[in-house]
Amino acid sequence: MANKLNCKLGSLPMKYLGIPVSDAHLGTTAFGGLFEKMNKRLEPWKGKHLSSGGKLTLTNSCLSSLPMYIMGFYWLTGATHSKMDSIRANFFWKGVEKSHKYHMAKWEMVSCPKDQGGLGIINTRLMNDCLLVKWIWKIMKGSEGVWFKLLQAKYMRNGKSFFTSSSRGSSQFWQGLHKVKHLFKWGALFKVKDGEKVSLWEDSWVNDSPLKHQFPSLYAFCEDPLATIADCWQDGEWDVNFRRTFSEEDMQLWEELLTVLHGVAMDSSQSDEVMWMLDKSRSFATKSMYRFLTFGGVTSKEAGGIWKARVPLKIKVFIWQMFHKLPTATELVKRGWKGSHRCSLCGQPESGDHIFFHCSMARFTWCCLRDFFGWDGHPTSCSDFWGRWLPLKFNISPRLGIFMFAGLCWVLWITRNKMAFEQKFINKPTEVVFLGINFMQKWSPMLKEDDREKVEGVLKTVTNWLQNLPTSGAPVLDIVEI
Ligand SMILES: [Zn+2]
Repeated sequence: MANKLNCKLGSLPMKYLGIPVSDAHLGTTAFGGLFEKMNKRLEPWKGKHLSSGGKLTLTNSCLSSLPMYIMGFYWLTGATHSKMDSIRANFFWKGVEKSHKYHMAKWEMVSCPKDQGGLGIINTRLMNDCLLVKWIWKIMKGSEGVWFKLLQAKYMRNGKSFFTSSSRGSSQFWQGLHKVKHLFKWGALFKVKDGEKVSLWEDSWVNDSPLKHQFPSLYAFCEDPLATIADCWQDGEWDVNFRRTFSEEDMQLWEELLTVLHGVAMDSSQSDEVMWMLDKSRSFATKSMYRFLTFGGVTSKEAGGIWKARVPLKIKVFIWQMFHKLPTATELVKRGWKGSHRCSLCGQPESGDHIFFHCSMARFTWCCLRDFFGWDGHPTSCSDFWGRWLPLKFNISPRLGIFMFAGLCWVLWITRNKMAFEQKFINKPTEVVFLGINFMQKWSPMLKEDDREKVEGVLKTVTNWLQNLPTSGAPVLDIVEI
């Protein structure tokens, strides 16, 4: 037959449109092509210098097309996700250079959304779930498409819905959907008509939450927890079966439940409708499900300021790392680095707060600001700056405060790196402040117009003030050791 049609005879497993297809279960090895594809996307960047912002963007974009496509079909195992994580984590922390680099923050932290204090790297496990829940939504909505008719004929015969269908002996795709079906219930609210698609106890369809939560003691001894509403609506009467007779207390609850049920207008001439409550459009959006699953309940205080700041992406990543962990000497030593844990300028143990607030170079910079702005002191740590100085002490808006903070800290960091790795030291402490001003001038076109004018004004005044500062001037008092 194949010969007559001039076709090649294939065998399983095979690939169709890049997706592995098999009559047997596909394990991690079947997805080797996926890892290859991700590596291939990152490969062209080999040997090129990439900023952390560039790496962040690439770490997410290496997932687009094939990996996302596959995650939209199969529920991948933990091992497959771990392999994808390690490809991305290695790229993010060390790029494609041969040299060893340390991973400075836990991957779970990095893959939190930005407003939750993470870097917004996609959590593939959760994204995989969300992409599959989308199928459940499409199935529940019904379709005229061939794909739907096929699924209906195979798994949802005799008026079965997705939720009453069985996953036993079904394809890997269908099994995957059944693995994530509990997530669908978080967002779905049913408008009941004929009650065929909706579970009486398990789905949300009356008073915004499932009846099993509204009447837990009745649910505990119901005959069929999976019964549909249609099963319990017989000839215009509610008929719910229980495993034992009612006690007096149960009777009271049953009356309450009946009052709720009588408030629902059934219409057997129409199908049930479903709405997605996690999105304003009331229609399923993968983003809304992902957001729901990644929401940890607490938004990060710093995050809003960092990610909204008008500075290059790599600087935002750098500030994020200041709040988590930068590769300072003490952090590197903790991770097995053989070098010294001391600051190359003053010999003190080198932590993040040391570099940015306590080291003489940092203190000089902050004292300049102290004198310029007329403060009675200066911030002593990252959290002190963010929590106390930014909202209370700056006489410019916090938005611009973050902008200036980013410029100064970035310059302290690169100056520190030059000292630590190239033994290049600055000539005069004011050099750091001037360099910081240079960076801020370079970034100022990213600011909104009125902010830009303000910043440029402040920078000009600071520059003049610094140039006229006698070498034995006030800020130096605090840094006798320089
Ligand atoms: Zn130091």
